[in-house]
Amino acid sequence: VSSTSFEILGRDGAGRLGRFKTKHGVVQTPTLLPVINPNLNFIPPSEMRKFGAEMLITNSYIIWKRHREQALAEGVHKLIGWDGPLMTDSGTFQMYMYGSVEVQPQEIVAFERDIGVDVGTILDIFSTPDRTHDQARTDLQETLVRARASAQIKGDMALACTVQGGIYPDLRAECAKAYQGMGADFYPIGGVVPIMEQQRYATLVDVIVAAKQNLDPSKPVHLFGAGHPLVFPLAALLGCDFFDSAAYAKYAKDGRMIFPDGTWRLEEITESWCACPVCSKHTPAELKKLPAQERELRLAEHNLWVTFAELKHVREAMRQGTLWELAERRCRAHPTLAEAFKRIVAHSEWIETQEPLSKGSAFFHLSPESSHRPEVRRYRERLLSRFDPKGRDFLLLPEVNKPYSMSYAPLLDRLARLPVVPAVQSAFGPVPLVLDEMYPLAQSDVPATLDKETREDLEAYLGTIETAKGVRVRADLTLEEAERLLTPLETPIDWDLERVRAVADYQFGEGAGDALLAGKVEIQKSRNTGKIRQVFVDGERVLALRAEDGFFVPQAAGAKRLHAAIPAPRLRVVVEQDSVAFNREGKNVFAKFVRSADPALRARDEVLVVDENDTLVAVGQLLLTPHEMGWFKTGMAVSVREGIKG
Ligand SMILES: [Zn+2]
Repeated sequence: VSSTSFEILGRDGAGRLGRFKTKHGVVQTPTLLPVINPNLNFIPPSEMRKFGAEMLITNSYIIWKRHREQALAEGVHKLIGWDGPLMTDSGTFQMYMYGSVEVQPQEIVAFERDIGVDVGTILDIFSTPDRTHDQARTDLQETLVRARASAQIKGDMALACTVQGGIYPDLRAECAKAYQGMGADFYPIGGVVPIMEQQRYATLVDVIVAAKQNLDPSKPVHLFGAGHPLVFPLAALLGCDFFDSAAYAKYAKDGRMIFPDGTWRLEEITESWCACPVCSKHTPAELKKLPAQERELRLAEHNLWVTFAELKHVREAMRQGTLWELAERRCRAHPTLAEAFKRIVAHSEWIETQEPLSKGSAFFHLSPESSHRPEVRRYRERLLSRFDPKGRDFLLLPEVNKPYSMSYAPLLDRLARLPVVPAVQSAFGPVPLVLDEMYPLAQSDVPATLDKETREDLEAYLGTIETAKGVRVRADLTLEEAERLLTPLETPIDWDLERVRAVADYQFGEGAGDALLAGKVEIQKSRNTGKIRQVFVDGERVLALRAEDGFFVPQAAGAKRLHAAIPAPRLRVVVEQDSVAFNREGKNVFAKFVRSADPALRARDEVLVVDENDTLVAVGQLLLTPHEMGWFKTGMAVSVREGIKG
């Protein structure tokens, strides 16, 4: 059993804000492990904390070759002078650089275990980008044999099993799948340094996604050898939790300074635009005049400050829900990265399954790629599958200030008499007025003039709606013309009822609105904003509004209605019998008690907690994805809002 554990505290895109616990301390992720060369006395490990490093990586093969007896006698922490979490690499990279190593695969893993590292890596086979598919497959099979043997002898050390497969996503997927249940505790994605050196970032994206889709999601994923801040946001967005690199030292040796959007030679720089302690204290001219050794040290320090500042930026963007925007900004720094960003967007069907229902910040439409992001994809898909126009045509209204329904308030009485679905033309697609307060529609910033690609996409989407729903999307009618041409409704639309029904259907699935609203409905609104706050039916409170994102929180009475009307497995998280009594009392659902969950659910969805006989026991908010719940053995799965007594 490994002495490490990993927990997810937040998420954005497919990225995770995590906490990795080891015997030597706790690490917040995503983070970078600075590479320590045990032979060089450069920046001492004991000084690494001040830059923001919480875990280091060193090379067990070099220690095995040069300091074997000492490391075995006193332990690796004492040997290198670091008392925090420590990972070791195994000599794979040396094998790639020099063609061979002297150590046997199991010998090095036993050595890593015996010198007390927290995370030790197998001696895998590094497939370079020029390996053919057959060659990379043969490499991979040998890596798997070694991983299996290493898992037998890892002891309580966390074992890092490296995902190989060269440039071939199918082999990366095969490798990741083979690791499931093998006893690995940590997953480096290996063999990517030459891919990055060749600036094949789109390939890098495919390789990461193929691995991520098939790995056990309860374990951290490490992008081996990625140390330039330029790749952190994009790799973190795809779910990489760890990076490592010697870049800070190598670049410094070469007179180069790392910045979040590129690398510059000290010689090219007149004014440093960096605010780190080094750049605050020394001008570039002063740095240039320093003795070579001291200059190298100062540049390495600058590189570390910048590297860890960008990691803080990534983590903070995740907390705020703006990692997509950060990744896009960074990817605009270089054409090959811009291509990589397009490739990320091409994987948005998978990323959508990881993306939470809502986030804390506004959605920014920044480029043609924005309209392919998971948030837009989800909205368009749900409008098709969960919104019922009841046979009425959409009447497209020009975009106005948000909230749309507020801007159109003076026309609502007239619109209520028309047999149409009034919907505002937006970059997301038509937004029915009754859906305008939900995330991301209300919380978005879109340029006044949309680019050609987005306009063409929207045009195609309107066609899809017409085909799927058998109604027309009328952009050709004004309100006045519609009033002249169409027969008015006998009973005008009740906008509040219509809104509750439409949002409930969008959130919980078609039919949810009718089930929740059957009976005598009373709607309570905020005096300040005029927005719906609570919904009572037959005297019972069934829904309360989640003010931050415009979705509903079902109350016990609402949960009972949803449970009765919507068949299993929809909206359900099924828990084991051992958990039932606790959840009925309002206590949270822990991941290890979850049997199964509706795969259509998303993190932050409001869910029904049921036992194995589909008896309702609680209602609460989902914190993990349905896929993750099958894997996590620790941590919370559902934050229970209300227990339901039998
Ligand atoms: Zn600096």
